[in-house]
Amino acid sequence: MLPAMSLPIGLLTSGGDAPGMNAVLRVMTKLAVSRGVPVVGVENGYSGLLEGRMRALTEASDGGGLGVDSDVDLLGAVGGTILGSAREPRFLTAQGRAPAVEALKALRGLVVVGGNGSLRGAHALATESGTPVVGVPASIDHDVGCTGLSIGVDTALNTIVSSCDRICDTARAHHRAFVVEVMGRDCGYLAMAAAVAMGAEAVLFREQGRDEESLVVAVESAIRQAFSERGKRRVLILKAEGVKTPCTRLVRLVADRLSDLRDVDVRATVLGHLVRGGAPSFRDRMVAGRLGMVAVESVLRGHTDTMVAWQPLVAGGEKTSDPSVFRFPLEQVLAESDALVDGTSPITQRRVSMMDAIEGVLGV
Ligand code: ADP
Repeated sequence: MLPAMSLPIGLLTSGGDAPGMNAVLRVMTKLAVSRGVPVVGVENGYSGLLEGRMRALTEASDGGGLGVDSDVDLLGAVGGTILGSAREPRFLTAQGRAPAVEALKALRGLVVVGGNGSLRGAHALATESGTPVVGVPASIDHDVGCTGLSIGVDTALNTIVSSCDRICDTARAHHRAFVVEVMGRDCGYLAMAAAVAMGAEAVLFREQGRDEESLVVAVESAIRQAFSERGKRRVLILKAEGVKTPCTRLVRLVADRLSDLRDVDVRATVLGHLVRGGAPSFRDRMVAGRLGMVAVESVLRGHTDTMVAWQPLVAGGEKTSDPSVFRFPLEQVLAESDALVDGTSPITQRRVSMMDAIEGVLGV
């Protein structure tokens, strides 16, 4: 076995893909090369770690030192992840993870780029192995604790807003109401933020705790007000994926109640995976660059069971070389992620009450 200092750092992307994952791979590879450390990319997330599917992202340069694989240099603008991602059920048990723990012995450290599930896997690996494991939050859902931003959220919101602009163009032409569903799993943030940015008439998200009847009433009354009282030409309603009534069912139930209104047409659009793709925005590339640098520095310094987080305003974690990047223990991150979803987090409570306050204004 090589001495620990000569072992490569492993990088993997896992779970739901997010725009900016490649940008973080690029900067991490470059930083490692600048420190003379080789890098391997693990293919298809935890599946590749279990099966030993790795490929070099660095190569010997002409001068005899280390260089970056030429593909890596092109990555900043590319959506998705060149390493591939996966959902890997074998990782859910210690027995299933055992080959991955063994594989880590051949690495100087591992950086896991992904959302809450992937970070849970990283926490388990860090606990079960002696190799440094560092997480980087990347998820369009905006549900990872302790970080002000996860890589991918900004691009996803830009895609949602530009898609809604297009939907509104056609809605105005035909006097239509659209219920637009956006991803986000159990977190309604994408729907809330897009609703504010779009001046939507209403927003529906799981954290409001509405049953189906009150969802129907909310949509019906937003449409009635907009068309009958305010003379609008279009109605836009954002619905989060976490609201379990399907978009098409909701629209059918609402349309049945609006039969007295002439010339009103209600449609459903599910943006779905469209929102995951595309070139990362400036902000996602910038955050990816800064989180990626600190992630690799952290591995090289032997930090483990930790996540690098974007916190431009709030202190509280352990300071790093970047004034906006802090390290938080993965255990704390995962506890805060749970609180974001179960509603006990003050952040979730603030979001819900802010949206309550804004809803009356949105409809005007
Ligand atoms: P994301 O990382 O985007 O939240 P998932 O929730 O699908 O995506 O998680 C990605 C992968 O992380 C899972 O397929 C599994 O391999 C691993 N994972 C998820 N939860 C756990 C857990 N509790 N313990 C260990 N590994 C987990």
